[in-house]
Amino acid sequence: FLAVFYRLLPRVRAINDLLHQAKGYQPWLENHDRRMSLAMAHQDYYPGTRRPTLDHGLRLEAVHFSYEGRTVIQTLTQDIRRGDFVLLAGPSGSGKSTLIDLITGVLSPQQGDILIDGISLREQDIWQWRNMISIVQQDNPIFHASVLENIAWGEDAPDRDRAIAACRQASAWDFVSALPNGLDEVLGERGARLSGGQRQRIAMARALYKRPQLIILDEPTSSLDSETEQGVLETLSQLRGTCTVIMASHSSKALPLANTIIQLDEVDAAATATGRGDDHE
Ligand code: ADP
Ligand code: MG
Repeated sequence: FLAVFYRLLPRVRAINDLLHQAKGYQPWLENHDRRMSLAMAHQDYYPGTRRPTLDHGLRLEAVHFSYEGRTVIQTLTQDIRRGDFVLLAGPSGSGKSTLIDLITGVLSPQQGDILIDGISLREQDIWQWRNMISIVQQDNPIFHASVLENIAWGEDAPDRDRAIAACRQASAWDFVSALPNGLDEVLGERGARLSGGQRQRIAMARALYKRPQLIILDEPTSSLDSETEQGVLETLSQLRGTCTVIMASHSSKALPLANTIIQLDEVDAAATATGRGDDHE
């Protein structure tokens, strides 16, 4: 019995580790499932087939949204021009993530419209629109795979040069190139060998690798300590002008990055928008 027990022990351990790992992904998976079913439920609202472009910008036009009668977004009108850096500011629960779901068509507004290059999202192919967008969340999954595979997520033939360029843009290249196997270094479960800031930089490189027209960041620094947050914000500030960025954050440190601030207030209070113009550097 003991002999069998000791032979089995490593396997039991491995299974236990796997279970532990799977548990770690559970909140992310549940969130993914929830968003996916929301997206499917709102799909009929977006029957369009036009190929979307984002050459000029997008416009929220008197957008109103409530969850079961509870108003979260109240007649919000805002122009976002191509290349803008938009900050969705407001305390937790003020509707930042809801507005992001509206922009990506995961949710649909009860009133008002979302226009891309002047054309209603309802006329556009919603899946193509989503393909033009990269999202970085507060916590992003790091897979037990190489850095390259983590960045070129889901691609059969990852482009190394493009991944390196994405790493550079995300200020990840310094630490990635210092890994023993560089881009081919296999990251441990949940990126255990990486610090929180490094994980966010990998997530940013993953987002940039797609060469999106629009990058959306939902509280990308809220799980980081203040010093790391500052570094990530500096990297983000370099994205300004290269592509359109929409970032949700309740951190006041994010304010100087933006040239447009959409201030969301507590539920049932009107949202006000402030455009600061282009001259802000
Ligand atoms: P933020 O991202 O700014 O923290 P959210 O957009 O997540 O805010 O939430 C805004 C409000 O909507 C909160 O009061 C939240 O409780 C509520 N809410 C969010 N998702 C749902 C949902 N699926 N059903 C009902 N209420 C929701
Ligand atoms: Mg949120």
